[in-house]
Amino acid sequence: MAKFFEYQGKAYLRQAGIPVPRGQVADSPTQAREAAAALEGPVVVKAQVWAGGRGKSGAVRFADTPGEAEAAARDILGMELRGLPVRQVLVEERLEIAHEYYAGVVVDTAREVRAPVVMFSTEGGMDIEAVPSERIALHKVDVLRGLRPHEAVNLVHALGVRGSALSRLSDLLVRLYAMFRAYDCRTLEINPIVLTRDGKLYAADCRMAVDDQAVFRHPELGVKLARELPGEPSEFDLIAWRFEEQDFRGTSFVMQMATPAELRKGGYVGYHGIGGGAAMLGIDALSRVGLKAANYADTSGNPTAAKVYRVAKLILSQPGIEGYFLAGFLMANQEQWHHAHALVKALREELPGRPGFPVVLLLCGNKEAESQRILREGLQGLPAAIEIYDRAHVYDAAYLAGRMAQLVQAYRTQRA
Ligand code: GDP
Ligand code: MN
Repeated sequence: MAKFFEYQGKAYLRQAGIPVPRGQVADSPTQAREAAAALEGPVVVKAQVWAGGRGKSGAVRFADTPGEAEAAARDILGMELRGLPVRQVLVEERLEIAHEYYAGVVVDTAREVRAPVVMFSTEGGMDIEAVPSERIALHKVDVLRGLRPHEAVNLVHALGVRGSALSRLSDLLVRLYAMFRAYDCRTLEINPIVLTRDGKLYAADCRMAVDDQAVFRHPELGVKLARELPGEPSEFDLIAWRFEEQDFRGTSFVMQMATPAELRKGGYVGYHGIGGGAAMLGIDALSRVGLKAANYADTSGNPTAAKVYRVAKLILSQPGIEGYFLAGFLMANQEQWHHAHALVKALREELPGRPGFPVVLLLCGNKEAESQRILREGLQGLPAAIEIYDRAHVYDAAYLAGRMAQLVQAYRTQRA
């Protein structure tokens, strides 16, 4: 899912006609001070990070003066929440809360639902999982009709809301669902919707995530990489994504797992799996012999040699890796000679300057004999420590990982 920061989600809410507090995003304490000064009054300073529960972790702070806002921003900008560094804060006018509601739309993929579900609760502000089910009203949306006004009214009415709050909250739900649909969201949540002491409604928070498969329809969202990632994409991830974006023939899923600082500590090998399950198997086998994958990679679905070549080059570009492991732990039906050609080209370009560099290649399946010949002939004469395996070792993950560990050991000794 392509996830958005609170301040980004709020900008789209505003466009959808849902009021949000005035505010500004800041990436330094000084900017936070200026933002607070511009708001002329008490503010709230909030970490912008893809993690909930910020309130409880001290990542939402109140400030009465620009100086306090600056200090709060300084504290928050140094924080890590669920392993994610906070790089920006949102500085907003502080609301006088009279009541907090919850509203959300999610795609429920359960077999018996398989539809967007609109949720409303009068118990906003806390974790929605912690709210008793009788305090949450649900409505499964007919996607062809959308959320109709009377359905929204029924939802809000079901929890005992009456009067002008009823019509304003149901109007908000209709707008929220329309926005969810317009951007192909998987999740769009406001927790809390704040009713202020002077009777106004605001979206005080926003969690927005868009379906990866629909991102191409929304260039206006500016998503750089439509893939499930723990945090923001690295330079490595963005390069890898370009292979896919420009060429849909076969899959090349490549993702950074170790930061450059971690790589420097040693024990990492460039990792190249074929097929998702096989790729996991290989990583597991490596970790049992004390090695780690610098990156994840899977080239399957019969990718072209050009695509596999780019993947291999990217893997080899990681500074500090101590080997290259091609984990083809499956009898692949794709024509493996494309992999063989790609690897020969990439390794011939990259290995001449790396004497003793450990390379373990397992490649089997369709066009195996030809592929083996291409690898053996093509890699002859390179100064690296190259071992090539075929179907005889397709189930020998432990053995091949062990070979990798021994070659890495020898490589370290040679370089010491
Ligand atoms: P989360 O904990 O990550 O979901 O962050 P929220 O944005 O939901 O903020 C957590 C809580 O802080 C909210 O439920 C509110 O109770 C409180 N809060 C956030 N903004 C304001 C505000 O402007 N005024 C007041 N009084 N409380 C706020
Ligand atoms: Mn919240």
